[in-house]
Amino acid sequence: MITPYFPKEAYTQAKAYQAAHSMPVFTWAMEPEEKTDCDNCGGGGIVYLRLAERGPFSTPATTRQPSTYFDGDGQFGKGWYVVKETMGFTCPKCKGIRK
Ligand SMILES: [Zn+2]
Repeated sequence: MITPYFPKEAYTQAKAYQAAHSMPVFTWAMEPEEKTDCDNCGGGGIVYLRLAERGPFSTPATTRQPSTYFDGDGQFGKGWYVVKETMGFTCPKCKGIRK
């Protein structure tokens, strides 16, 4: 899995969300399919923040919202988190320009 980097405002929003809700914010990007694909966004031109709403659970808690698995980082536990919102940002590396 790739860990993309984000434009500055994305980190600001992620920090604010995490502080306000005591819930983790995950990062996500497409996997590159070809060597020429951008290695930050996987060639999609967009990098994503996924804001967790509830969790962790031992299984995905609902089918009405997406869930994502997280390994735990000391601050937030290991398990499935219900994702409240997925936010897309233009990839700061390729500026969203697809080849
Ligand atoms: Zn990119």
